[in-house]
Amino acid sequence: MAALISILPEHLANKIAAGEVVQRPANAAKELLENAIDAHAGRVTLRVEEGGSTLLHCTDDGSGMDPEDALLAFRRHATSKIHTYEDLENINTLGFRGEALAAIGAVARVELRTRRRESEVGILVRIEGGELKDSSPCTTPPGTSVFVRNLFYNTPARRNFLKSATTEFRHVADVAQRIALSHPSIAMKLTSEKETIFDVAASTQDERAKELFGEKLYTTLLPVSHETEFVRIHGYVGKPDFARRSRIEQYLYLNGRPVVNRSINHAVFQAYEHLLEKGSFPFFILFLTLDPRRVDVNVHPAKQEVKFEDEGMIFRAVVSSVRRSLSAHNLVPSLGVRDERTAQGEIGLSFARGLSTGSAQDVRELLKPMTSGDGERTDAPSVAQAEAALRSGDGTDRQLWQLHHKYIIAPVEGGVMVVDQHAAHERILYEKTIAGFTTHHTQSQQLLFPISLELTPADAALVGQLREQLEEIGFTLKFFGKSTVIVDGVPVDVRPGEEGRILQNVVDLYKRDESDLQLEPRERLAKSYSCRAAIKKGDPLSVPEMRGLLDQLLKTEIPYVCPHGRPVIVTLSIGELDRRFGRTS
Ligand code: ADP
Ligand code: MG
Repeated sequence: MAALISILPEHLANKIAAGEVVQRPANAAKELLENAIDAHAGRVTLRVEEGGSTLLHCTDDGSGMDPEDALLAFRRHATSKIHTYEDLENINTLGFRGEALAAIGAVARVELRTRRRESEVGILVRIEGGELKDSSPCTTPPGTSVFVRNLFYNTPARRNFLKSATTEFRHVADVAQRIALSHPSIAMKLTSEKETIFDVAASTQDERAKELFGEKLYTTLLPVSHETEFVRIHGYVGKPDFARRSRIEQYLYLNGRPVVNRSINHAVFQAYEHLLEKGSFPFFILFLTLDPRRVDVNVHPAKQEVKFEDEGMIFRAVVSSVRRSLSAHNLVPSLGVRDERTAQGEIGLSFARGLSTGSAQDVRELLKPMTSGDGERTDAPSVAQAEAALRSGDGTDRQLWQLHHKYIIAPVEGGVMVVDQHAAHERILYEKTIAGFTTHHTQSQQLLFPISLELTPADAALVGQLREQLEEIGFTLKFFGKSTVIVDGVPVDVRPGEEGRILQNVVDLYKRDESDLQLEPRERLAKSYSCRAAIKKGDPLSVPEMRGLLDQLLKTEIPYVCPHGRPVIVTLSIGELDRRFGRTS
């Protein structure tokens, strides 16, 4: 009997491997663009017909190849970018697997023309379905030009799988846009059926973002810039008002490579801390730069997924960089009223339409302002103004009122501010607690009469587990037997009379908050603690107490939402009141 096993011929192996690298025209487009960039091109163009299924034509003015390399380039595992395992650990190019051209050549009719600047003639290589059809000298400008025609012509199953030309083009445009965004020093042009989708000159990062997304969106972005020992994070995040209904508008790069990473998306999301409405996603463009040895980009042939050596560290760095940038800009979430800047700047995106294509044209289209319907968005006081008003220079303290032992009413410049007393105190304690974890400057009040608590075995185990963090907050605990805890001291902010209950209350809430399961224990504990230790509705407050509370609140990083995501401050502008009363002035 003949052997059943045989080694696949190379063209067949390539065809199979192509399935992983090239699933649709956009994947091929990405590989071609990446190759051009790796070849140090100064200008790259991509021409697309029928969404890339009949033609993808990429030209660059990069290094070019000599004839020998041009032929080798189509062999599987042929790469000039890495040579040793050490190189693989330290990748600085976009390509490195040496698979793309082999894969594309296996499932399309490819014509490559290339010339090195120092050579007089170039070479033309034609590959169809993995077979070499032609290789001959040719005249061509320095650089490389690759035609990919009739993608999947020999793999009907794949071809039938393609969506409409419009849909495929949308993916190609998205890929091109992502690459263009991260390589501002390279001029790039994308055309589809003779129409120019974008044509951007070499420029700075800011200019590139402006050109690709349009001036209007650009003005809604806040810069992010942050550096830790391990990672540099820079880019932009959208103001919460401009959050999108779709995750597509999230641009994440790692060492210049567009990547997807759920954990980082989540980190950005967390940084907004409920500044966003449910179901909307923050717009962001973030570039992460870190030592290539600390990250694995070789997770999948498409090189889009990445694995970090220390994901938690990256996660925290992203959260804090985004948080800083949001709080530096004193953002007021949409609470029905908006601050002056946005009121003037024609706000409101046509969310409902969703993102129909990823091209720059459509992004701009999407950003056309809605005609602001209801005139509500006028001159609501911002928190900055509120702060100024509360600490007014006229010497006299402004009057404050407590409403139903629940809300604090404060007249401010341009309107009135209503503050939820519990949520406000919660926010203050939460930030204080979090800060205490890092600075270790937490104060504890020693109890004259230590409290002995009988806990259930499960609670006792949990308290044991959280002991370190509880002590960091300001609890002093002693264990006595299996399920008895002696509380010798409690955090200073615990109100008189609450000392006996506070630990049990915090533990109960900690257990209950299922939605916080993904949080770090410290953060989760800070939330439970601040909720339980904060003043409640029904607690009467004196004017100095209210003043003290507002003072502290306005000093927090994010005064507008409590740690659970409910609003803390609602502002009502004179304009809004005028409108309600039907006044024109
Ligand atoms: P990889 O990019 O992973 O090395 P590819 O199959 O994409 O693998 O390309 C194979 C090789 O062909 C590259 O390593 C490079 O040397 C060469 N090459 C491909 N495209 C170009 C280009 N546009 N300009 C110069 N060299 C190129
Ligand atoms: Mg490549």
